[in-house]
Amino acid sequence: MLKYLNTDIVFQEVPDETSLAINITGCPCRCPGCHSPYLWADTGLRLDANAIDCLMAEYGESITCVCFMGGDSAPHEVSTLAAYLHRHYPRHKVAWYSGRQYIPLTVDKQQFDYIKVGPYIAHLGSLKSPHGNQHMLKRQPDGSFADITARFHSR
Ligand code: SF4
Repeated sequence: MLKYLNTDIVFQEVPDETSLAINITGCPCRCPGCHSPYLWADTGLRLDANAIDCLMAEYGESITCVCFMGGDSAPHEVSTLAAYLHRHYPRHKVAWYSGRQYIPLTVDKQQFDYIKVGPYIAHLGSLKSPHGNQHMLKRQPDGSFADITARFHSR
């Protein structure tokens, strides 16, 4: 079961979008040098369709995108919530910051408008690093994903 600790409204995590970042706990990735080790513990509030409805009632008018931060302990649940968002809130984009280099086959990638892949590796840097291992992918009209990581390099 997915849980989340808190949310933030953020402007840089997804290009051209005002995003509600949902900080999901229980992260299994254990990246050395992790910037958010408080997200490792299995704690927080249940993140399900009801929670999504509550968050959208509160923030939906102020945002253009919902961004799941984490959720690699149950990627199929992230995928299910992304599908729920697209079905019930079709005006909003859906993004996912995964800590894995590859998205599992159990995930329906078509439910996401953006997917960030790659664990944090300190010496390679973040998405802003031109030599990093992390990539931001954007779904195209034909269902393929384009790598738009370069959008972060000038920030
Ligand atoms: S995926 Fe993010 S939160 Fe999880 S260990 Fe890596 S840096 Fe930390």
